[in-house]
Amino acid sequence: MLMDWLASQDVVPLVIATIRFFAAHGDRENRRKARLRHVRERMGDEVFTARLREAFEQTRAEKDWPVATLALAKLDHPAKQTLTFANGDVSPAMADDLAWLAEDEATLVRLDTHHRVVLFGRSEAGLKEKLDAAASLSSAANLAVSVVACPGKRWCAHGLVDTNSPADVIRRRFADKLPAGTTVCISGCPNGCAHPAVADIGLTGRIIRDDAGLKIDAFDILTNGGMGRDERLAKPIATKIPAKDVVDEIEKITMKHMKSMK
Ligand code: SF4
Repeated sequence: MLMDWLASQDVVPLVIATIRFFAAHGDRENRRKARLRHVRERMGDEVFTARLREAFEQTRAEKDWPVATLALAKLDHPAKQTLTFANGDVSPAMADDLAWLAEDEATLVRLDTHHRVVLFGRSEAGLKEKLDAAASLSSAANLAVSVVACPGKRWCAHGLVDTNSPADVIRRRFADKLPAGTTVCISGCPNGCAHPAVADIGLTGRIIRDDAGLKIDAFDILTNGGMGRDERLAKPIATKIPAKDVVDEIEKITMKHMKSMK
């Protein structure tokens, strides 16, 4: 781990140092390798963290960087509503309503990391009134299961499998079965852009051959990651599950593992 915690005034210099570090050491030729984790694999954990920490210290010493005011929204706007967009899809009407809310000085609109938008209001009643007026957002405000699916082969050149179909089925089938706050993260290839490696339930897409030797979509299933709130990595509990069976498999296997989830 790079560090246990980070003071809010150090967020900006760490981000700047990391961007520079990747610019200096990342692979700019091969898009498939253009990720920080490949630099880490190449250098090894120890060298990578030592050199990134050194770059951070140098950057931090350069000047007084702007401070990321993390707690401001909570202090002035204690009411909170999370909006979850199925498959990350935001319709034009939803975008209009989000823009309308963003222009309202009583409402703060913030992005989070899992296809979600968080609204902060000055009071619960005031925020509810605004949301009631933004009718297109009601489905996003009431989505029972949080499923984060990367574009998969629908949009991404690297995508191996379809991610949206299992995401839609999971939303329907698991609506009243998963503990509140559980997030399912589905990535269409091992690059893991939806973060299945730290998910409560993670699916990583891959291609396998069926009994007839034909290539078919499949997933590895992982559970019990820390969702980035702590350093827990999700553990693989099933591999090479054909896509047509993956939701049944989650129902069968994951419920058992869910008991040990926090
Ligand atoms: S995880 Fe998803 S978005 Fe990321 S490269 Fe693979 S298919 Fe594309």
